This record gives sequence, structure tokens and C-alpha cells, in this order.
Amino acid sequence: MNINDFPDDIRENIIPNPYGSMFYRCLACNREFDIENLLYTCPSCGGILMLYQRPSEKIKNIDGDAWRKIFDYRRMINRSSLRGVFRFYEFIAPIIPLESIVYLGEGSTPLVEANTNIEQEIGLPVYFKYEGLNPSLSFKDRGMACALSFLNYLAAKKGLKNILAICASTGDTSASAALYSAYLTGLVKSAVILPKGKVTSQQLSQPIVSGATVFEIPGVFDDCMKVVEVLSEKYNVALLNSKNSWRILGQESFAFEVAQEFDYTVSDKVIVVPIGNAGNISAIMSGFLKFLKANIISGLPKILGVQSEHANPVYRYYLEEDTPMRAFKPVHVKPSVAQAAMIGNPVSMPRVIDIVREYNQVAGQKRVFVAQVTEQEIMDATMAANKNGHIVCTQGGESLAGLMRAREMGIVSDKETGILDSTAHSLKFSGFQQMYLEDTFPEEFGIKPNKEYRNSPVSIIPEGIKKMPGTGEPLTEQELQIFVRASAETIANILSLKKI
Ligand SMILES: *Cc1c(COP(=O)(O)O)cnc(C)c1O
Ligand SMILES: [Zn+2]
Repeated sequence: MNINDFPDDIRENIIPNPYGSMFYRCLACNREFDIENLLYTCPSCGGILMLYQRPSEKIKNIDGDAWRKIFDYRRMINRSSLRGVFRFYEFIAPIIPLESIVYLGEGSTPLVEANTNIEQEIGLPVYFKYEGLNPSLSFKDRGMACALSFLNYLAAKKGLKNILAICASTGDTSASAALYSAYLTGLVKSAVILPKGKVTSQQLSQPIVSGATVFEIPGVFDDCMKVVEVLSEKYNVALLNSKNSWRILGQESFAFEVAQEFDYTVSDKVIVVPIGNAGNISAIMSGFLKFLKANIISGLPKILGVQSEHANPVYRYYLEEDTPMRAFKPVHVKPSVAQAAMIGNPVSMPRVIDIVREYNQVAGQKRVFVAQVTEQEIMDATMAANKNGHIVCTQGGESLAGLMRAREMGIVSDKETGILDSTAHSLKFSGFQQMYLEDTFPEEFGIKPNKEYRNSPVSIIPEGIKKMPGTGEPLTEQELQIFVRASAETIANILSLKKI
């Protein structure tokens, strides 16, 4: 829609101008730092940094009704910079000029209602949000769009050149970091550090194709993260892990979109999120809190984090109901099909602890829950979702399994609506589905396939045919006809088709 056709009362707010300033504040020591320096942890105590806006009047001066109207109309403006996560510009990073925003098609992911089978099985309305339909096929693009837009802006402002961006990854962060860095070729180069053999071949191919330098090291993600931490402390690099708080801001857009997609009524919703480093779940809670404070929503949704019993440090932490008694202990992970969340020492643990406390406090009741599921349950749920017409990765399957578990535990009632974060595209993890179908899971996963999902290609070799296509020499017209008829007949027999 042309800008002149927007309603008068909101027209000047449709295309935003940068305003105010932003700053880091350390979660541990509360010191504040300027954003002009590339910081990832607190220079004085090493704590996690959070980003804030100053002043925050603009958000307060517009009421909830007006914000809803602005965002609903902004969906219709044809500006690249406002199509993605920056539709919610004022709530993400309103210091970034629109011309610095990097938009590669992230955000506005499909919200798809689960089919009747799945809804009946769970006993309540359920929606999947397909985060796998982001450009690098995972939700990580939301955060990367924000982090690289900021880097792009800072580079222009300070004349930075030849930036080296690095990250450790369970596969999807590196795919996303490499993609966005590749778009800024000439300004940003990327290097990614992966645990050898612990990312899928599809995930591994992504940063390679984008031209990143890819390092594989022995161990699991937690070991890669340690290496990256040393690199980012001792060398001049831009860190793109979720310690980078710009990423968290971009990932808040998931919450904003969900609010908008349900006409800003979310207090009867349950948002189900698989937890790895706990960056995503922190961002989602933070997003809903921001919308509540601005009166854009009038209540907070329930949040359900899910972990596999093979990588469950956050679940264990919250098992202790008595807050002062809680103590965080990293765990040694075991192989998990929810491999993108296979993390024993989550980088964002201090963030999630802080935000869960605030979330429950603002809600005036316990609104955040963490469920644990088995590898078998994750895989069965993944297969069930895909068999019912959904595009769900193993972590999305973990969300579905988590909602089922929460129903059994009485955490979620049939008066609520489940929103399942399907965090990546199913094809990135198709190898696990393959192992399930072929019953070839290594023992440590403890997964046995359910026969209901058994499926494999049927090879058609029609009987009594001398010449087949594809053997080099082309068939004659007659040979081809014989082959085609015989093949069609064989298929019709197998499918028990009736003649017309
Ligand atoms: C990164 C990732 C997760 C875990 O998210 P965190 O922010 O690390 O908790 C889950 N699923 C997929 C597909 C991911 O790529
Ligand atoms: Zn500090």
C-alpha cells in the first residue's frame, strides 16, 4: 500500500525514524556500557549483557490501541527493511537507520493450525509456527538479522572494515551467521566452529556454501563455545553467539508476531519452546513482557520450555520448587535427536533465570514451566507431525512431545491453545527420520521405531521386460510403450486401483 493511503492518525508512524540511544547493562553487576564498542560480556565482571533503550518515552507516549494499529498497518507497507523482524522497529533497536537494516526474508513465518488428528490427540487447539521457513531454515535468522543490521550500522558510523564474525554452533547458528555475513561480503567474513560429527550434513553444507571458514573440533557444542569465548576475549572479532544481546532482541520478534497473529489476545495461549542455550525462550518471554508493559497485550501467555532427558540442565534447575534452594549445575549431554538443543551448559542461563523470575512476578502467578521428554517421545512426535502434514524438525517434535507431557501433568488445560515453536526445517534433520524408518539408531539414543510410521520407497521393475530406460541406449518408441504400460499396471496392482 502506498504511504499516502494509510490512515491519517498513524501515517507518520508507519515508516519509523531512528531515535534515542541504547546501552548495555550487565546482568550481574549492573554497570552500563556504551554500544559503540563491540561487547559481548561485561568488561568488568564477565557477566551477561542486556540491551536497553534510553529514553523510553516514545513507547509510553503511544497507547496500546495505537501500537496495534501501527503494526497491523505496517504489515502492508512495501519496504524491505520493514518486512522482517523490524516491523516491530521501536521494540527491537530503534537506533538503526532503515538503510542499514539487512533483510533476507526472515520473520513472518507461517502459523499453521495442527490437523484434526493432532488436535484430538492433545485435546486442545494447537498451532505450529514454522520457524524452519526462515531463509537459513531456522529461527536463528531473526536474531542474526538484528545483529548484522547493527554491525552494518556501526561499521558505517565508525568506518569499520574487514570484520571477522565468529560463532560456535550446534549447526543452525553457523548456517545463519554465514548466510548474513555472506550478504555483507566486503564488510564481514565469517568463521564458524562446530562439534565434529554433531551437526547434520545439511547443516554443515550451509556455512560452506556461504563461504565461511568452517572449523570442526572434537567434543560437543559446550566445548566449541569455550574455544569461541577465548577467541572473543583475546582477539578482535565480532561474536555472533547468543551471548550477543542484539540477537536476543531480534528473536523477541517471535513473541510480537504471535501476539499480532492472535489479534493481541495471548493470555489463553501456551507457547512451547525447545531449550538449548536458552536464548530463544528468554527472548520470547522478554518480547511478551515488552508488549505487556506497552499495553499492546493485556496478559501474558503461559510459557512451556522443553528439554530432552539427554540434555536437561534447565529442567533440572527448575525441578527444585524452592527458589533459594536452586543451584545451577551443567550436565554432560548424551546424544540427542534434538541435536540443535543438545547443550549441557546454556550460555543464557543467567538471562533465563532473571527473566523467568520477572515473568512470573509480573503475571502474579507461575506462568513458566519446563517439561522433560524422552528421545523416543521426541522422535515419535516428530514422525507424527510430519505424517499429519506438518513441516516439523526434531526440536519441533520436542515441542509437541512437551505439550503432550504437560497435558499429562495437568500443566495445560483444554481451555488453552498451544503454539508450538518448530524451530527449524525438518529436512535439516531428515537423517534422524531416516534412522527411525530404517531402525538404525545407535543404542545410546534408546529409540525404537513405531511400526505405524514404517515407509520406504517401492522399486518398480516390471516383469518380463527386456529393455528398461536409463541404461544408456534410448528405447525405441515400441519398447518405451511396453515399459510404460507394464510399469503402470504394476503400480495400479500395488495400489489396488479400479479400472474406469
Ligand atoms: C538453536 C536451536 C534451538 C535452541 O535454541 P536456544 O536459543 O539455544 O535455546 C532449538 N532448535 C533449533 C532448531 C535450533 O537451531
Ligand atoms: Zn558486570
